[in-house]
Amino acid sequence: MSKTFPAAQLRATVSNIIQAAGSSAQEAQTVADNLVLANLSGHDSHGVGMVPRYIDAVLEGGLKPNTAIEVKLDSGSLLALDGRRGYGQVVGEQAMALGMQRAQDSGSCIVALANAHHLGRIGHFAEMAVERGLVSIHFVNVQSRPVVAPFGGGDGRYGTNPFCVGVPLAGQAPFILDFATSRVAQGKMRVAHNEGRQVEPGYLIDETGHPTTNPGVVVVPQPGGMFGALLAFGEHKGYGMAVACELLGGALTGSGTWHRPADNLRAVINGMFTVLVDPRKLGTQDAFASEALAFVEWLKQSPPAPGTGGVLLAGEPERKARRERETAGIVLDDTTWGEVVAAGAKVGARIA
Ligand code: NAD
Repeated sequence: MSKTFPAAQLRATVSNIIQAAGSSAQEAQTVADNLVLANLSGHDSHGVGMVPRYIDAVLEGGLKPNTAIEVKLDSGSLLALDGRRGYGQVVGEQAMALGMQRAQDSGSCIVALANAHHLGRIGHFAEMAVERGLVSIHFVNVQSRPVVAPFGGGDGRYGTNPFCVGVPLAGQAPFILDFATSRVAQGKMRVAHNEGRQVEPGYLIDETGHPTTNPGVVVVPQPGGMFGALLAFGEHKGYGMAVACELLGGALTGSGTWHRPADNLRAVINGMFTVLVDPRKLGTQDAFASEALAFVEWLKQSPPAPGTGGVLLAGEPERKARRERETAGIVLDDTTWGEVVAAGAKVGARIA
């Protein structure tokens, strides 16, 4: 069973809950806007279904409300920032604001953000950058129970380590490529499990390392308290990219890499290594604009392969989902909504 909610109602509910858990009204609104935008964009895995996890993390002390970034190093176009376990939605936007200003001033900026609590949909940060005409590249690692198996391995050793690139296109909606380096996002397995669905073959192995289509293997403990694991996308290539995310987002930022047995802590810590470039300062602006558009046009002229809807550019599915869901509302399964309400009850929030 499921229920459909207008986005505004979900924003108000989430904001109440986050505020009841200790955040300022402004912080609660930023988190609520971010999560509901993920739902609107079609990524329910990173939407309001994250609220129970955030509340548990606050109650455990792993997520710190009302925490701002600390600047650890500032050498102009190199910034090292500590998110100090603040809400990723807040410290992520703060880090981007600093980095974008530097990139606009001097042409480029590298931002190493450590110890952010869950940054949510990484595409949000690329969208901030392309709005200002900037290219942005993000390598992110995830420190929480390791849910992805290395290529050739039989258990989870690292997180769903997302990678994201945003490229502004002159006079057109931007290219926003934003994906988990696992075959699918962990949150999508939670949604499938809550909805009682099996998933496609090739996504998962069970707690003994064998292939399975049961998303529950990465959501609830299996016999012996063990979990299964997600597989990397693109076999050894996706696995290699995930390692790059861990080395850059985790090690190079100083945030930390995962190299210990699984624990049950609820906090999700992201490290994010971001490269920002202002094409206007690179001297290639005209060629960039015309060559990028010519290539996108060329792609779009490819005839639709039989049985497909034709060629899309990354970012289009999210924009289409937003147009649809802003009107039709956001559908939440009863389990997810029940968990959100229960999370609110834990902190004494009023649920509208
Ligand atoms: P996904 O598999 O749905 O892939 C999304 C990307 O593919 C988008 O860029 C989308 O525009 C593009 N895309 C989808 N269909 C397309 C098509 N037909 N043609 C061209 N491009 C297409 O995404 P995912 O891997 O499930 O990740 C979902 C979200 O989870 C992302 O926003 C990611 O940042 C987020 N995430 C966050 C964390 C974290 O710790 N903060 C961890 C993992 C994932």
